This record gives sequence, C-alpha cells and structure tokens, in this order.
Amino acid sequence: MILLAQDSISTRHGTFRESLFYNGLSQSVALTVGEIAGASRLLCRIHSSCLSAHGFGSISCDCSAQMDHAQAEVVRAGRGIIVWLEQEGRGNGHLAKMLAEPVKRRGLPQGAAYEAVGFQADARGYTDVVEILRHFKVVSVALLTNNPLKRAFLEKSGITVSDVFRVPRRAESKGVRCDFS
Ligand SMILES: [Zn+2]
Repeated sequence: MILLAQDSISTRHGTFRESLFYNGLSQSVALTVGEIAGASRLLCRIHSSCLSAHGFGSISCDCSAQMDHAQAEVVRAGRGIIVWLEQEGRGNGHLAKMLAEPVKRRGLPQGAAYEAVGFQADARGYTDVVEILRHFKVVSVALLTNNPLKRAFLEKSGITVSDVFRVPRRAESKGVRCDFS
C-alpha cells in the first residue's frame, strides 16, 4: 500500500484531508479531519463505492445517506476518518449489481440476489483499511457501522475497535442495502 497524494477537499459538510492510497490493484481514499496520528477511539467509517448512488443519485439504496451521515459525524466530532474502498457491488463489480437488481426487486435479500446471478454474497475485504489505519498509527477506532463483519475483520487483523455506533436507516431507501452499512 503506497500513499500517492494528499490534498484538502471541501464538501457541503466541511473540509477534509484527502489521502489517496494504491495497493497495486485498486485505489482507496482516506478522508480525515483533525490530527489522527496515534489517535485512540478514532471515529471511523468504512465505505464501499456505489456507482448507482454516488454517481447517478439512485435512491434505491442507503449509500449516499450513509456517506452524508459519516461526513457530518466526523466533522461534528472534529476528528475522524472515512475510508472509501473501490469495492463496487460488494466487491463483485457493477455488472453483478446490475444483474442482481431485478432479482432483489422480486424480494430476495442483497446477498442471495448476488448468489442467484453467479456471484458471491459478499466479496469485500478490508485489508486496505487495516493498512491505512496502520499508516496513520491509529491505536483504536470507534466504528460507524451496522455491519458486524467490519468489526470482526478489523479485530482479527489486530485493530482495536473500542465502540460501534449504528448508522441510521433512511426511510425512503426501501430497505435496500448495497453496503449492509
Ligand atoms: Zn448503493
């Protein structure tokens, strides 16, 4: 994992420090606020890409609302990190997402819909997050998530998770979760 570039980025929630990492295959971005080197109980959101929501404004999933919530919370806390991962369609790619979408509309849960069209229920990994947290020498994190797999992955990798804060669900998202929060 190498750090390619750093700059500031202004958003409607506030200004973040943007750090671009590359692992030889894919990019990951850390959006940070405040001094995070050596931080304990650092507010942390792990967020996978969703072209439908972030690129096209789709309201069929929670992804945009979750990113908004994470940015607002990190700015409000005055310190924190959001790690964006290039893991479209739960790591299966956008094709898998498009193929699974009609299956989901027939009532299957997200993971089962991916399996029904020949992909993994969840192909994501969080090794890049672990490496980025180590890069910043973060001691422990308070995760913003509803997904117990994220906590489990970090803890298995030696990252201390001090707290987990649930992400509110958005009423108009029809209950569809791209990211399982
Ligand atoms: Zn989404």
